[in-house]
Formats: sequence, structure tokens, C-alpha cells
Amino acid sequence: MPPLQEINALSEEFEMKTPQEIIRWAVDAFSPLVAMSSSFQTQSMPLLHMISRIKSDLPIFFIDTGYHFWETLEFREQIAMQWNLNVIDLYRDTRWIAFVRQRLRTLPLEDPTLCCFLHKVKPVQEALKSMKAWITGIRRDQTAARAKAKLLELQPDGLLKVNPLLNWTRTDVKRYAEEHHLPVHPLFEKGYRSIGCAPCTIAIGADEDDRAGRWAGRGKVECGLHTDMFKKKDIGEVKQEFRIEVQEEKSAGV
Ligand code: SF4
Repeated sequence: MPPLQEINALSEEFEMKTPQEIIRWAVDAFSPLVAMSSSFQTQSMPLLHMISRIKSDLPIFFIDTGYHFWETLEFREQIAMQWNLNVIDLYRDTRWIAFVRQRLRTLPLEDPTLCCFLHKVKPVQEALKSMKAWITGIRRDQTAARAKAKLLELQPDGLLKVNPLLNWTRTDVKRYAEEHHLPVHPLFEKGYRSIGCAPCTIAIGADEDDRAGRWAGRGKVECGLHTDMFKKKDIGEVKQEFRIEVQEEKSAGV
């Protein structure tokens, strides 16, 4: 891994580069220890399409929370087959099966932060343990937290986060999708412009912010993959922030 000073300088330099140039740099510098994550929604298509052209065997993590719309799972299958992508499904740690099973329907509403940590943050942390770099599709125009992100971000554990689409806007995504005739998630036309898990996603109006349908009315805008939550490594560290008292399962697990 280059030293922090060099990474910061490269990040500044990349502000003038295209997403494809940044992806190629990451692939050349870190393969085979580089992966990307994707939620396989309409706005994920440009980055997945670029990967399919630059390095189609790049590991692509899809977080199978168990709460997805059926349409998302079908769309994930369709795109993976059509573009010959190397998609790897991630699941929650088996130690939490009993805990989650008891709260399957209530957890996303009672404590979405804990639910996202168990189903999204932790599985991605585990999957990235063997990687040096992580390509994501976040954009500065999506949320206040993402507006402060850099193109290259060195995490405390040495993982390099690469955000090639950071400077793209919703209009850029739309233009690329139209130019390349990219497929559209089956729920997009029904008003689901940003799609996550079914209990936490609603359809929105045409003039609303893209992410207005995520955790609507619950004061939450991020799952934790792209916030300080991602730096928390174990449940002991996060317990203090959660309302629910969690007893970690001691049965076999990862
Ligand atoms: S988006 Fe909702 S259902 Fe999915 S992991 Fe987060 S809280 Fe749970």
C-alpha cells in the first residue's frame, strides 16, 4: 500500500480523471486483492457495466440481507449472467441467526442501525479482510456524509476505499445509462429510485431526492457502510450505541 501522503496526492489528481481511469488504476495496482460492492439497483448499473468491460472477474460483493425485494434478487441474477460478472453473495454471521430469527419482522423497524450493522456492515467487513482495496459506487450528490468523501480513502485497518463515481451526478448516471442502453431495475418505474431492503424502502415522487425513500421518516440516511460505523469492528464496540441489549451467540460461526 502506498504511504498516506502519496494516496492523498493521487486522490487529488484523480479529481480530474474519469471513473474508468480510476478503476483501471485500482485493478492494476491491487488485483487480485481488490473487490467492489453493489446493491444491483438502477443507479448501480454504470459502475457494474464499467467493471464488466475492464475486469469482469473482479469479485463483486452483493449483501444478501434476507430482506431484499424479490425483484432485486432476480435482477441481480439477470445482470450477473448477462455480463458474466463474478458476484459473491454475503450473509450475516451465523452467530446472529438465533438473535435475528426471534426479531425477524421487528428488527428493521425497532433498531435499523443494529439491523444494518449485523446484515450489511459486518459481512462486508469480513469479506474485505482478505482484500487491499474496495471499489464502491458512492457519489457526492447522494448524502451529506458522502459529500465529504474523497476519491481514495485509506481506512484505519489499511484497506483502501476507491470511489470512482464520487464526482458524478444523477444526470451523469442517467446519461451513461442511456448511452449504453443499460437495464433498469424492475421497480424503478414504480417510483423506487434508490432500492435497499423491502422493510426500509418506499416509492417516492418524481421531484423528491433519490434517497428519500430509504428509511423514510426514521432519521436514518446511511446503512453504515460509508460512515464511521464501518470502523467499528465488534459488537462490544457498537453495543453502547444501540438501544437493544445484545447477547452474542456462542455457537459456531465465522
Ligand atoms: S436496510 Fe433495513 S432491513 Fe436492511 S439491513 Fe438495514 S435495517 Fe435491516
